[in-house]
Amino acid sequence: MSVQQLERFRSLSPAEFFYRNKEIAGFSNPARALYQSIRELVENALDATDSYGILPVIKVSIDSGVIPDKPEVYLISVEDNGIGIPPDNIPQAFAQLLYSSKYVLRQTRGMFGIGVKMAVLYSQITTGKPVEVLSSTINSSRIYMFRLSIDIKSNKPVIHHKASFKKSNDWHGTIVKLFIEGDWNRAKSKVYEYFKRTAIIAPYATIILKDPTDNVVYFKRSTTLMPRPPKEVKPHPHGVDIELLKMLISNTTTTTLKEFLMEEFQGIGEVTSKTIIELLKLDPNKDPKGLSNDEIELLAKVLKEFNNFKPPRPDSLSYLGEEIIKIGLESILKPEFVAANTRKPGVYEGHAFIVEVGLAYGGNIPPSEEPLLLRFANKIPLLYDERSDVSWKVVNQNIDWSLYEVEKPAPLAVLVHICSTKIPYKGVGKESIADVPEIENEIEKGVREVARELKSYIVRKRKEREEVEKAVGIIKYIPDIAKSLSSIVNDVQYNSLSNELFKLVLKKFKNVKFKSVDDVVVSVE
Ligand code: ADP
Ligand code: MG
Repeated sequence: MSVQQLERFRSLSPAEFFYRNKEIAGFSNPARALYQSIRELVENALDATDSYGILPVIKVSIDSGVIPDKPEVYLISVEDNGIGIPPDNIPQAFAQLLYSSKYVLRQTRGMFGIGVKMAVLYSQITTGKPVEVLSSTINSSRIYMFRLSIDIKSNKPVIHHKASFKKSNDWHGTIVKLFIEGDWNRAKSKVYEYFKRTAIIAPYATIILKDPTDNVVYFKRSTTLMPRPPKEVKPHPHGVDIELLKMLISNTTTTTLKEFLMEEFQGIGEVTSKTIIELLKLDPNKDPKGLSNDEIELLAKVLKEFNNFKPPRPDSLSYLGEEIIKIGLESILKPEFVAANTRKPGVYEGHAFIVEVGLAYGGNIPPSEEPLLLRFANKIPLLYDERSDVSWKVVNQNIDWSLYEVEKPAPLAVLVHICSTKIPYKGVGKESIADVPEIENEIEKGVREVARELKSYIVRKRKEREEVEKAVGIIKYIPDIAKSLSSIVNDVQYNSLSNELFKLVLKKFKNVKFKSVDDVVVSVE
């Protein structure tokens, strides 16, 4: 008997896909979903401020007990003083998956166009409530308010309520409020760690966090220095494949191959464009839209293999710089020593990247066998999957800290920040970074650089300590010697003898800061 079975086929909307695969975006359980939602809102808030040169003021509140008999439901509210969102874009920005203003070559925290929508989706699945957004752009005279949810089948926004108010002052920014089922007790330590690390990497931000127990943490900005905002750049030829090439061709307004190469890519000037076209054996005046499939394939190959392009421009990147890193580490970790090293821009697979390394030692940092590792990608703290991250490998396997005079357990923290328009995340969780050799190499050089500075500090400190010990060893006998001498040499008084001897010893030990013999006697006792 032959059974003929017919499968039923259909396609999923992006919203339905993410509805079925929430864990891909970090929404695997109530604790993680609460943490992830807060993160997505805060990262959008920071992007809307520091990417435009605005000193961020971010207010976050997490409330429980907001719905009767539902203690597991929390209300998250995040307010920023950013550029705001034009009212026409608000519904899609918050309630249509894969809608973003960040699909350009410029470093931002987001760039996948799913972040806040996952929080909205999770909120609507677990509480049935819409998200509320209030926003005003910088020059607008009005504030717009929307209550939205996602139509999962069609991936389109549903507008439940819409209103606008006249602005009475010059406030601009965005406030987002959403209800979500969560687990504060289990999320708490990660949430706090996340804010602490955000304050380290963005010491120019003021962040106020109110938790469900009404505990308020105030991270006051410790500097007004800010990273240079990222600039949008054109693709580098080494990062181009056939599909991207086709898209560039279909969007271009240029009419000759020569102009197309010079206009649509970075790193191609008149001479390089001519050389490429000679390699292709094509007419420089050919219309790019008239290229055959074979010619496009050949062009992609030549662009990948040609080795004489200028390297990718780092203008698209917004790195912190050594000063800001040191301020961040100092203000939050309160160490006795800090160092930082921002590496020169590097390239992997046609993508520009910059690695920055910071180091903090001593003070309030608790000693541990493994250095406290603070990982960041495009200014986002990475808290999960530490051991599979390339930075963990460098800090714990490639580097022998004893070469830098570090004795474990050591009060040591190492910060690694990677900036790129394409971060090579390992896996979909976006929590750890792959061992790309070019990046690993720069991390290692950066860590060695700050470790060398630490070594000089430790050696200097040790010398100073040894000197003090030596000086103390001598000075503590001065009272006895002075007493004996003054008793045999009649015309010399004890006090002046003691002072003279003390001065003699201090001359020898320039770094010893005691004020009198009594000082030393007290310190020895
Ligand atoms: P992504 O951040 O990856 O672009 P999101 O879904 O998190 O994706 O956000 C979608 C878009 O909504 C952003 O690209 C941005 O244009 C806009 N947006 C979200 N939150 C804010 C905010 N607080 N201020 C300004 N724009 C925002
Ligand atoms: Mg986002």
